[in-house]
Amino acid sequence: MPLPPTFNDFLGNALAVEHLRTAIASGRLPHSLILSGPSGAGKYTLALMLAMAVECERQPRDLWSNGQSLASFCGVCSNCTRIASAANLEEAVEAAVTAREDLRETDKKETRVLVQPHPDVLIIPPDPPQLLIKLGQVRTLIQRSHYLPSEAPRKIFILTAASFMKEAANSLLKVLEEPPETVHIIILAENPGELLPTIRSRCATVRLGALPVDEIDLLLSDRRPEIPPQQRGLVARLAQGAAGKALGFDLAAYTAARADALIFIRDAAASGDGEGSSDHSALFKMTETYRAGAEGQQKTTAMLRAFALLLEDLLLLNAGTPELIRNTDLRAELDRLAETLSFGWIEQASRGLDQVYSGMRRNLLRSLSLDAFATQLTQG
Ligand SMILES: [Zn+2]
Repeated sequence: MPLPPTFNDFLGNALAVEHLRTAIASGRLPHSLILSGPSGAGKYTLALMLAMAVECERQPRDLWSNGQSLASFCGVCSNCTRIASAANLEEAVEAAVTAREDLRETDKKETRVLVQPHPDVLIIPPDPPQLLIKLGQVRTLIQRSHYLPSEAPRKIFILTAASFMKEAANSLLKVLEEPPETVHIIILAENPGELLPTIRSRCATVRLGALPVDEIDLLLSDRRPEIPPQQRGLVARLAQGAAGKALGFDLAAYTAARADALIFIRDAAASGDGEGSSDHSALFKMTETYRAGAEGQQKTTAMLRAFALLLEDLLLLNAGTPELIRNTDLRAELDRLAETLSFGWIEQASRGLDQVYSGMRRNLLRSLSLDAFATQLTQG
C-alpha cells in the first residue's frame, strides 16, 4: 500500500496529526516520541509521513485561516521519495531478513535486521525470530545518532515496536536521557505499557485512537465497494477501529482461523456441560495442522487473534452488553457457548493464550505449545 499523498488523506485522528504537523512547522517536534495505538491505526504510515515532513527539501506549509502553519511534504524530492520507498514495512523487513540469511554463519549472528531507506532515516523492526528489538540494533542507533545528518536536516530513527530485550531497553534509555539536537526517535507502540516506565517518562506520547465502526463502514463502502454491506459491518467491527486493518481485511482468512479457534471453545463447552463424552479428537486433529516455522507462526497468530476476539465476545455477552460483540454473524452460537462456559474458564483461557504467545516468543515448537494449551482448556 503506498503512503497517503498528503496528511489530509491520512485516515482518522485528525487532531493528533494536526498537533504533530504544527510541532514540526515550529521546530518543536519532540526528540523522543511514542506513537501509540492499535494495530492498523496507521502508526508506521504516520511516522514515515512525519519523517518526510521533517526531511523534505521543499518544506511546504499549509496555512490555516487562523494563521496556524502546518508542516507538509512534497512527496517528489529525493528525501521524500527515498523515505516513502519503505512504505511497505513487511516487504522491507523481509528483504533485510533475506539479506541476512545470505551472510556467512559468523556474520549472521552479528547482523541485526535494519531498514535504511535514506542515509539519515533508520527503521528498526523487532529482530526475528524472537521479534524483540535487540541490543545490537539499539547500539547502531546510538552510534549513528552521534553523527550529524548528511543529506537531510535531521536524523530520524523509527522503532517499529515496543517489545525490547532488557539490555536493549536499558541502552535506549541512555540516549533518551540526552538525545542529540539533530535526532528524532519515534517509538511505535501498540501497548505503551510494554515500555519501561523510565522510557515512557522521557518521551512525549501521541495516541492514535480507534475509529468508530460507522466511520470504518463508510470508508469500506467507498474503498472496497466489492464487499457486500452485511459483511462490511462485520469487517468494520472485526478491524477494531483500525482503518488500515479494515481496508486490508481478509474475511475469508479470518473466518478460517476463527473456525479453528471455535473448535477449542466448542470442545471445552462439550467437556464442561456434564456430558463428558468429548474425546477431543477434532481438537487435536486441528492443532496437528499447526506446524513450526514462519508459515505455522503466521497461521497460529491468526488463530490466536480470532480466539482472543471470541473470548472478548463471550465476556461481553456475560456482561450483558451483546451490542458490543464483534463476531455478530455468530451471535446465536456465542449465546449458547456463553451459557455453558463459566467466567472462570474464560479467564483461564485468556491466561493460557498469554502463555502460548510467550511460548512463541521463545520460539518453541508451535504445535507443542498449542497442544498444551488445548489440554489445559479441556481440563477441569
Ligand atoms: Zn519532499
